[in-house]
Amino acid sequence: MHDVIIIGAGPAGLSAALWCDELGLDTLVVEQAAEVGGQLLRVYNPVENYLGARAASGRELRDLFAAQVEGCDFDLWTEAEIEGVDLRAKRVRLRSGEELQSIALVLATGVRRRRLGVPGESEFAGRGVLESGRLERDTVAGEDVLVVGGGDAAAENALLLAEVCPTVTLVHRGKTLSARPEFAERLRGEHRVTVFTETTLERILGRERVESAEILRAGALKPMRVAVRGVVVRVGVEPNTELFGGQLERDARGYVVVSAAQETSVEMVFAVGDVSNPLAPTVGGAVGAGATAAKVIASRLSASRK
Ligand SMILES: Cc1cc2nc3c(=O)[nH]c(=O)nc-3n(C[C@H](O)[C@H](O)[C@H](O)COP(=O)(O)OP(=O)(O)OC[C@H]3O[C@@H](n4cnc5c(N)ncnc54)[C@H](O)[C@@H]3O)c2cc1C
Repeated sequence: MHDVIIIGAGPAGLSAALWCDELGLDTLVVEQAAEVGGQLLRVYNPVENYLGARAASGRELRDLFAAQVEGCDFDLWTEAEIEGVDLRAKRVRLRSGEELQSIALVLATGVRRRRLGVPGESEFAGRGVLESGRLERDTVAGEDVLVVGGGDAAAENALLLAEVCPTVTLVHRGKTLSARPEFAERLRGEHRVTVFTETTLERILGRERVESAEILRAGALKPMRVAVRGVVVRVGVEPNTELFGGQLERDARGYVVVSAAQETSVEMVFAVGDVSNPLAPTVGGAVGAGATAAKVIASRLSASRK
């Protein structure tokens, strides 16, 4: 029996663990990935907005976090696949068969990229459907490509791909792009990028790999086929909350609803970081929420033990 089990070792989970350790709580962190750090492992730009540390990339910031928690006394299990969680009973069952139990649970599972779910998207993953325009752009250099989305990530991918691809078609279902003005400005000046707003990707086609895509413009009766060899989908994120299902209150988009003390609707179950923060997801916010949850848990446990 642990005092606290923390699910997820991104910035929020690591911060909660650091504080739990400092507050003398017996803590176990369960992380599904091989490495700690969460989304920071996929941030290739410099992170210069986290107070106290400037980092050349997310990984560099994550390395600082990992080094800081290394000497701590909490247990950390990586590559731990959770089969089920009983929030009320505070029981976590792993696929490997172990059953873990605690007095408090901290949900720090973050978010993942949203998929469109259109035909061809999964089928051609790694065969023209790229995970990252930045990391995989050499695989489509000299080819025409399509990017889906209207935010910063989509705009950034389109601009990066335009450096090596003859044409980049950017499709966005909204009326206007939501990317920051500097990206929108650069897109307007980039003759290789064609932007279609109020347009959706309907399906991705090909034999061995992506050869074309069908897009549908608002008001059009039939989709239009564009010959492309690469597709990048950047349509936002969704919270990793399936494990918790109908056991606690979530908002319409699936984010866990929390109080100012990071409490969920289930007693002694807390949620921290992006999984509970659809408004302003940041490393700073995640770290702060982890600290809040740990301090609240410590004070509850100490009150109950008196
Ligand atoms: C490209 C990009 C750039 C960004 N730039 C900045 C920036 O400049 N400044 C800034 O402040 N923020 C930035 N962010 C946002 C920042 O990375 C996130 O707000 C932060 O990582 C959230 O931390 P978190 O711990 O809540 O979640 P995450 O980082 O998502 O971590 C969640 C962890 O939970 C694990 N997990 C999920 N499900 C399970 C499960 N079932 N079992 C076990 N473990 C599980 C995941 O593997 C992951 O390790 C950026 C994000 C991206 C993607």
